[in-house]
Amino acid sequence: MDSVELVTLINQYRQAGMPFWISVAVSPFKYREADCAYQYLKLEKKFAAGADYAITQLGFDVRKFRELRRYLDEKGIRKPVLGNVYVLNKRGAEKMAKGEPPGCWVAPELVDRIRKESLARDGGQAARLERAAKMVAIVKGLGYAGAYIGGTHKTEQLKWIIDRSEALAPRWEELAEEFNYAPKNAYYMYESPAKPPKPLGVIPRTLNLFGRMFPVRQDTPLRRILVSIFSWIDRRPRLAHNFERLEFAMKSPMFGCQACGNCVLGDMEYVCPQTCPKQLRNGPCGGTDNGQCEVIPEQPCIWVKVYERAKAANELELLKVYIPPPDRSLKGTSSYINYFLKRDSRPGRDVDNPGPPLPSSSPDEKNELHSSRSR
Ligand code: SF4
Repeated sequence: MDSVELVTLINQYRQAGMPFWISVAVSPFKYREADCAYQYLKLEKKFAAGADYAITQLGFDVRKFRELRRYLDEKGIRKPVLGNVYVLNKRGAEKMAKGEPPGCWVAPELVDRIRKESLARDGGQAARLERAAKMVAIVKGLGYAGAYIGGTHKTEQLKWIIDRSEALAPRWEELAEEFNYAPKNAYYMYESPAKPPKPLGVIPRTLNLFGRMFPVRQDTPLRRILVSIFSWIDRRPRLAHNFERLEFAMKSPMFGCQACGNCVLGDMEYVCPQTCPKQLRNGPCGGTDNGQCEVIPEQPCIWVKVYERAKAANELELLKVYIPPPDRSLKGTSSYINYFLKRDSRPGRDVDNPGPPLPSSSPDEKNELHSSRSR
């Protein structure tokens, strides 16, 4: 499950009477348009799914803290968000400067500064705590509900940071000038010049055209004909299996299909979610690095393509639609049949009125189909 699916599930438990308080994460410290905008879109999805509050990723760039606050204010989102304040030591700074752990980044200029501070008799502790206190004052001044202080578990240090931040609070705007650590050519949603969308490729354009010419999402005559045909195929397991193989042979080279049986290509700008190494369905994780994947760094993050296509098709609002987790029991079955028989897991599925279950085959037939699906 991805984080939005998990929030949805926990929210369902909560509605059934189990007490939960749901916290989620968001990273404003993304310096490419697609990475940044999708973080905010995904935060909206997390809140819509039932999250109670959010905590930011750590970062030392006040313009990004300000940007997220403005985004939430403009969207009228009133849920509390805590700014992450990390008491950063030399070792942590040097690791984060190399992108470890994924999603955390520290500018080389800040690493240099912390190295110099660490030469002091206290190993740079006073400077670290002072920096953290300043950041607490700043995030509260910016309108964050509070600060999430990390990097130390020592009660006396936490108390010192909080007390000192209160003393610094009247100067927060002046202090904010000190925290401008960002990469060169960084993207800022409200400051960077708007880039024109990249032109849509042939495949999405053709499929969009087909979708408009042959509407099947609503109850149209064409949909009714297809439902009859697929119901007929579905009652013949061998034929249904061969149909699935044909579907896979077409979709595998085109989309990297992995025969999940719950196709959401139409909800994801024709990018298959199964090609995301984490198999996320509701947006990127927090580990993207300038548009590259956290798990396979040499591979572009699939969500960049989803965002760029949605922007080119003027469909960015569609990216806020919740995509439920796939029904794993449908793996290796035809997603077309599952779709038209309302059996699959996808946005807008009528859970109170599900389609017919998968037909059962004879034990021999089942084994044979299973081994060929596994292949
Ligand atoms: S979403 Fe599932 S059925 Fe659709 S292309 Fe991806 S793996 Fe194949």
